[in-house]
Amino acid sequence: MTQNNNHGTPEPRHTDSGASFLIATIAGIPVRVHFTFLLLLIFIAAYGQGDVKGQSAYTVVFVILLFACVALHELGHALTARRYGLVTRSIVLYPIGGIASIEGVPEPRQELWIALAGPMVNFVIGALGLLTYYLMQDSKSPVLHTVLELSQANLILAAFNLIPAFPMDGGRILRALIAGKVDRVRATDLAAQVGKFIAVVVGVVAIYKLDLFLTILAVFVYMAADAENNMVRTRALVSGHTVKEAMIRQFITLSVGDTLRDASEKMLQGTQHDFPVMIGDSLAGVLSQRQLSLGLIESGPDAYVAGVMTRDYPTAEPEEALSDLIQRLESTDAVMVIDPKDPGAIPAGMITQERIVEFLVLLNSRNAAHNGG
Ligand SMILES: [Zn+2]
Repeated sequence: MTQNNNHGTPEPRHTDSGASFLIATIAGIPVRVHFTFLLLLIFIAAYGQGDVKGQSAYTVVFVILLFACVALHELGHALTARRYGLVTRSIVLYPIGGIASIEGVPEPRQELWIALAGPMVNFVIGALGLLTYYLMQDSKSPVLHTVLELSQANLILAAFNLIPAFPMDGGRILRALIAGKVDRVRATDLAAQVGKFIAVVVGVVAIYKLDLFLTILAVFVYMAADAENNMVRTRALVSGHTVKEAMIRQFITLSVGDTLRDASEKMLQGTQHDFPVMIGDSLAGVLSQRQLSLGLIESGPDAYVAGVMTRDYPTAEPEEALSDLIQRLESTDAVMVIDPKDPGAIPAGMITQERIVEFLVLLNSRNAAHNGG
């Protein structure tokens, strides 16, 4: 899978570092593993066919090998994107697959090749594996069975990713093919409709067969299709506006020396959910409502804000296009707007998801007034 982020300026990267670990940097691209993936491995090790001795250990190794192939799939997207001058911020491996976060919006033809590259990697691995299996069939090598299973899994992965539904690569391929004829918003809408239709059909079959995994997958695909569609639409609606126009200018800040109790009191006083945390006059991090709640549970009210806040927060510049910021908000609570002339100081503003909704309402009412209604 891929994800496109449309922001051009270099900035402190939001890497969701609280929930994922860096395992390798390949071709300059950080490859991370989400903590839920480790949970999956622990789950398999603990419960996976535990009656057969050594079977769980084998499954764990197999899953790790499979996810190495998933990482190669994502690298396929990332390196193809690089050929078009698009930078991949990171690759994150989740239990349901990987996501390569690619910055910028590719042309339809570029998107087609970027999306195709991932499944093609799995197809090549699968084909080479099968070839190896048939060539070495007589050798009775104990790894041969693994080679066969891994090859089959890669071919399934390739086929699965070509299903024309977001967030699968097939959804992007479909959009790229339609986008040659209509604009991106319409193309995304059509691709999302197809994705939702497929999700409903698969969902009905899954429920009928009482297949829990397939049911979850169908729900996930349905939601992802909606999310992608909303994002592209929102981006189109706010295009032409800058970050400065929409940002929250008045907000309360916290200090690194504040306790979580202080932070809770400030949060309860108003409607602000995300707080810039300052050391003296300079920005040190951001504390979200979610982090505050988790911090209160883990460390209690006397812990310091400094120990709980994110230091790796996403930023934007006031003059940047607002549409470039929309994707950054998908994976975070708030984006800090930093004046490039004064990067260390109190942020010039903040943008949150709720703020985008408010801004859309404002734009809508302005248009209505303009049209005399
Ligand atoms: Zn992919």
